[in-house]
Amino acid sequence: MDCIFCKIAAHDIPAKVVLETDQVIVIHDIAPKAKVHVLAIPKQHLVTFTDLTEDNKALLAELGLTIKQAVQQLGIAESGYKVIINNGHDGGQAVPHLHAHVLGGERVKGIT
Ligand code: AMP
Ligand code: ZN
Repeated sequence: MDCIFCKIAAHDIPAKVVLETDQVIVIHDIAPKAKVHVLAIPKQHLVTFTDLTEDNKALLAELGLTIKQAVQQLGIAESGYKVIINNGHDGGQAVPHLHAHVLGGERVKGIT
C-alpha cells in the first residue's frame, strides 16, 4: 500500500524512532510544531478513529500505554503535553493513516 506511515512502520523509509512495540511505533515529527513533537502510529493501517472496531480494543490500549512510555522517555511526563488526533478533512488530517501527535517540552497552545 502506498502509505507513508505504513512504510515507516515497516522500516521501508527512515524515521527518527523514539520507541517501538509490536503494534505501535513512535517517531519524531519531521516538521515539529513544539520543542517535543512525536507521532504515535499504530502499525495497522487504519485511516481515522471511525475505522476502529471491537477488534482494535487491544491496539487502542497499547497506543495509550506506548504514549505514556514515550513521554516518560522524552522527559515530558511531569511538565505535561498534549495528545492530538486529527481525523479527516475538518480535523485537518494530512496523512490518511491514524496517528496521535504528542506535543510538549514547552507550553503548547491549543483551541480547547
Ligand atoms: P496530520 O495533519 O495529523 O495528518 O499530521 C501529519 C504529520 O505527519 C505532520 O505533523 C507532518 O509533519 C508529519 N509527517 C509527514 N511525513 C512525515 C515523515 N516522513 N516523518 C515524520 N513525520 C512526518
Ligand atoms: Zn498506512
